[in-house]
Amino acid sequence: VALAQLGEDTAPGRTADGHDVALLANIGTAEDAERLVDAAVEGVGLFRTEVLFLGRDAAPTEDEQVATYARVLTALGRRKVVLRTLDAGADKPLPFVTQPGEENPALGVRGYRLVRVAEELLRTQLRAVARAAEQTGTDPWVMAPMVATADEARRFAELAREAGVRTVGVMVEVPAVALRARDVLAEVDFVSLGTNDLAQYTMATDRLRGELADLLDPWQPAVLDLVALTADGGRAADRPVGVCGESASDPLLALVLVGLGVTSLSMAPSAVPGVRFALGRHTLERCREMAAAARSARTAVDARAACLALADADV
Ligand code: PEP
Ligand code: MG
Repeated sequence: VALAQLGEDTAPGRTADGHDVALLANIGTAEDAERLVDAAVEGVGLFRTEVLFLGRDAAPTEDEQVATYARVLTALGRRKVVLRTLDAGADKPLPFVTQPGEENPALGVRGYRLVRVAEELLRTQLRAVARAAEQTGTDPWVMAPMVATADEARRFAELAREAGVRTVGVMVEVPAVALRARDVLAEVDFVSLGTNDLAQYTMATDRLRGELADLLDPWQPAVLDLVALTADGGRAADRPVGVCGESASDPLLALVLVGLGVTSLSMAPSAVPGVRFALGRHTLERCREMAAAARSARTAVDARAACLALADADV
């Protein structure tokens, strides 16, 4: 669809000195994907497939999933799509998989951990993705949420490849995975930082509690340190490291993420123009200076102020 008309705007984000950074969209439905046809994005960096599972008594069938995934892949044409496997549990409860009686559901059987109680659910989803890819002649990337160890990454990669998925990754949402990024990146083709959950677990702060927002701030230097560790692991393994949490949509923080070594930024489509503009006003060297300044700060507030002082006045 309309690929010929997409032109300039689907070009990568680019720093003032010509360093490419993929700018991608976060979506939850096939309708969201279809709305991207004329959008200025290089693709989808996070397709939250759990939306298809919400509000039902049972999981969607494999055929139903194939139909939805194929619609998304068709809408994106040759553009990149990163599909996330079911992220249920904690703040996204589902009646047919959520474990009853968990006292700390955010620390419980959620995200990829559901494989322990419902492996067939994951296998079915991975088969559906592979079938949709074949039907549409596309090559979606697939990643698992809430992975905590290199062993889990390995097992997920095995399951995905067995189902016929070619490019496999995991999200970095648990600090343990950032700390051991090298081990994890030895098992998968890419990682994507979910900074919403990474901040929640790094700061031990419930992401749903508004009164703790200062602790949950993605500018917290401890969170930035973990992003840096992950990006270092990606550089060493020569593998892509994206960010698909809300932090990518803050233009100033996006510059810091790029300076830390992140290779793609995925966000609400409406946030892309602001981030694209900010990138175009700064060199990669300036982004690196900002990243260093943010990590040298003692507090989130100081980190942001230090970067603002280094930024172009219009950003
Ligand atoms: C995240 O945790 O940053 C993320 C992108 O996933 P979600 O917000 O869907 O948990
Ligand atoms: Mg998450």
